[in-house]
Amino acid sequence: AKKSGKNQFKIFDENVSKDILFRKKVAEKVRTALKKNEFTLNFMPIYQASDLTIYGAEVLLRAGSESLKNIGPDIFIPIAEEFNIIKDIDLWVIENTFKLIDANRVYIQQNPLMFGINISSVELHNNYFPKEISKLLHKYKIPPEWIEMEITETSLIEADELSITVLNDIRNLGIRLSLDDFGTGYTAFNQLMRYPVACLKIDKSFVDDLTSTNESRKTMIKAILSIAKAYRLATVAEGIENIEQYKYVSERGCDMVQGYLFSKPLDWVSLTLLLAEPKEK
Ligand code: C2E
Ligand code: CA
Ligand code: CA
Ligand code: CA
Repeated sequence: AKKSGKNQFKIFDENVSKDILFRKKVAEKVRTALKKNEFTLNFMPIYQASDLTIYGAEVLLRAGSESLKNIGPDIFIPIAEEFNIIKDIDLWVIENTFKLIDANRVYIQQNPLMFGINISSVELHNNYFPKEISKLLHKYKIPPEWIEMEITETSLIEADELSITVLNDIRNLGIRLSLDDFGTGYTAFNQLMRYPVACLKIDKSFVDDLTSTNESRKTMIKAILSIAKAYRLATVAEGIENIEQYKYVSERGCDMVQGYLFSKPLDWVSLTLLLAEPKEK
């Protein structure tokens, strides 16, 4: 049934306030979870495309608390950004990754492993951020060459002079930078050299397209791979779910792969069990 304009406005209004209420509730739960130390870390293996040996792992945040249980980081991270909790989250993830590395130092020396930590776009406007990372590197005596940080390509849209300084400062600590979700942000390729990045992580949406019959969408991956090669940037294809996708990207020179075909995100112990598996040849 048709409703009057007035009624429709009311319904719209209710939905908006429901949504705000939901986001406020989630923000409160995130604050509580941080205070009570209820988050955990998962590790999603990243493999060399050529021989499928494990190169490293992307660190992914998980809510351990009962109240946030069914809410993933794709929901609570944007809310944490909106409610100014994200800086605490980023530092929590960095510090707890470093603690884990410190506790497993000898193991990691024997089983070399890169750790890819996701960083919010907010940090590109935070000139204290590199100093905070530096303090934590020293506190836990972490070799910076074991660490990579991922920033989304879209966060570069709002990048200014300070952002370039922040990225250079992180790079100068010895930490490598990757551009996450690459291909979604429309960075002009000739602008790429402004940023001290070593690696492009090709967004899952382009990998998804490889299963479609639409040839023009497939050319995007080819274009990204050849530009990356020209600029000497490493490449990771994200979201590989089937053999066809793996064959397509590896045959076209993609350096690394990540996705459910190989492994889902794992807790630390499961990751070490995976590393202990004999390599089939
Ligand atoms: P992202 O950085 O693009 O992370 C990749 C996401 O894609 C992860 O979801 C991962 O589990 C998922 N994924 C990887 N391969 C596949 C695949 O083959 N198939 C499918 N269906 N999914 C795949 P997750 O863990 O839910 O993370 C979602 C987003 O939340 C991340 O996207 C990232 O933007 C954010 N995030 C997660 N952890 C952190 C963190 O510690 N700090 C910050 N700032 N953001 C985080
Ligand atoms: Ca990422
Ligand atoms: Ca990504
Ligand atoms: Ca993403």
